[in-house]
Amino acid sequence: MEKQTYSVGERVEKFCAKCGEERGHVVASVTKRGAISRVSCPQCGTRSSFKGGDATQRRASAKASAPYDQKRTYRAGQSLTHPTFGEGEVTAVIEQKIDVLFPDRMRRLIHARNQD
Ligand SMILES: [Zn+2]
Repeated sequence: MEKQTYSVGERVEKFCAKCGEERGHVVASVTKRGAISRVSCPQCGTRSSFKGGDATQRRASAKASAPYDQKRTYRAGQSLTHPTFGEGEVTAVIEQKIDVLFPDRMRRLIHARNQD
């Protein structure tokens, strides 16, 4: 019997009914035993329950994202790790701002900041 434990903010592959494709989801909540109970889709923001067996449960190279750097220029779909908010995925780019989905909620950060 596989014994995998997860923590909030990790990535798992799951089929998103709204997006119509399997994609990396952010673990939104876990049970006391470390099993995933809810995940959120970084693309459409849909939160859905996670039943063991309805996904491949591949651990998507967790904690591999580069640290957030406001001087960098981000694109939608990129992952980053914020020192306070944790692992996030860029969902939208609005000029000098980016919307990043963190495990708890979406946050707007700055990017592409000119160094002077
Ligand atoms: Zn989705």
